[in-house]
Amino acid sequence: NQNWNIENSYLKLPSKFYSKQLPEKFINPKKIYFNSNLALDLGLGFLSEAEILDYFSGNKILKGATSIAQAYAGHQFGRFTMLGDGRAILLGEQISPKNIRYDIQLKGCGRTPYSRQGDGKATLSSVLREYIISEAMYYLGIPTTRSLAVIQTGEKVYRDQVYNGGVLTRVSSSHIRFGTFEFVRNFCSKDDLEIFIKYVADRHYPQISNAKNIALELFELVMIKQIDLIVNWMRVGFIHGVMNTDNMSIYGETIDYGPCAFMNTYNPNTVFSSIDKNGRYSFGNQPNIMHWNLVVFANTLIPMISNNKKKSIKLIREKLNKFPLLFSNGWYDMMYKKLGILKPIEKDKILVDSLLELMNNYKADYTNTFAALTLSDTSSESLFKSHKFKKWQKEWKDRINYSSDSIESFKIMQKQNPLVIPRNHLVELALEKSINGNFNQLDN
Ligand code: AMP
Ligand code: MG
Repeated sequence: NQNWNIENSYLKLPSKFYSKQLPEKFINPKKIYFNSNLALDLGLGFLSEAEILDYFSGNKILKGATSIAQAYAGHQFGRFTMLGDGRAILLGEQISPKNIRYDIQLKGCGRTPYSRQGDGKATLSSVLREYIISEAMYYLGIPTTRSLAVIQTGEKVYRDQVYNGGVLTRVSSSHIRFGTFEFVRNFCSKDDLEIFIKYVADRHYPQISNAKNIALELFELVMIKQIDLIVNWMRVGFIHGVMNTDNMSIYGETIDYGPCAFMNTYNPNTVFSSIDKNGRYSFGNQPNIMHWNLVVFANTLIPMISNNKKKSIKLIREKLNKFPLLFSNGWYDMMYKKLGILKPIEKDKILVDSLLELMNNYKADYTNTFAALTLSDTSSESLFKSHKFKKWQKEWKDRINYSSDSIESFKIMQKQNPLVIPRNHLVELALEKSINGNFNQLDN
């Protein structure tokens, strides 16, 4: 197929859910990156260089497509706010050759009705950063939005300094967020909420489209997806940095790469975002915050669960109360795999907990520690020289039958434990170089 296969099912929703909006035009755009692997998956492998530049700078709009900015709301650092795509424009939904629906969105192409005080622009370096980290997440096996193209706009963007402007083409299963539900619940009618829940179920969770209680089932499925997501983040030491409810995708993809980073030294209190003064979104607090965000999400569904409010609350609270145990089980299962434990027993929890405690005490690198165990090369970190670690290691080796039969264990460990992550100082170094027009470093 040599053509776009674009739809926009979002346009069938009540018109207050979005605003029609054209991207701004840029006089001198330049292609910096185009993700041709992703383009092939999307059925967009046929695009010429000129088309890539035209479409993904926003200079040209697809024939027959209507571009929109989506309305949403959200809790930012705990406070409720009306938001919306202030600098993102949805070009449409591309139906891939495998018949999968993907939102194609431009980020940084000008103001929309939801921009508030913002200029609707993005800096090239923030766009490159999102490109690097989202693609790294994808290849680490973590649900995420993806990056199709990076265009330098040729325009300057004014922040604390003057920067080059950029536009990112973001691809996702959808850009529907917990915050979109908050928008509908707070600013639209009960009928609108019903329409929206049905839309989300049909689009993302068709297995419950005909369920008796779609809202309640939806909640449970979303909760399970989010648990899986956070467990995956914690597997690789990822800190999202701004887990506001507007940054929580309804389909459980990592979305909105702002002040995110991969942890180096293991410490659950690690924070990268300079505005996160109280550690609300620290590495170890991510599960608690997801639980908190799920409470907000649950609240938006209450009118649709039962006509009796008390009953609604009771039903959804029963689901919510499962979170701690489900999370803990999911997290330990993941940690067991990181350690190659194939048939875990209750006592293995102590093995996991005590390793993390040692890593914390010895300031061991999170990625390198598990990589060393995976490669059976425990020489570098000072942790490995300690008596306490050697004692731990002996117990662990017993558990995976290290001496005789641990091939399977190491196979699982290899899958779970990355040897390389995009470390923040290297990402920053590459971005710094790219500001001077040197993009070589980014290819590594
Ligand atoms: P974020 O921090 O990316 O989650 O954005 C929070 C809100 O601010 C969203 O509604 C964004 O669309 C909006 N926003 C962020 N940056 C800008 C900008 N430069 N111009 C307009 N709106 C923005
Ligand atoms: Mg956001």
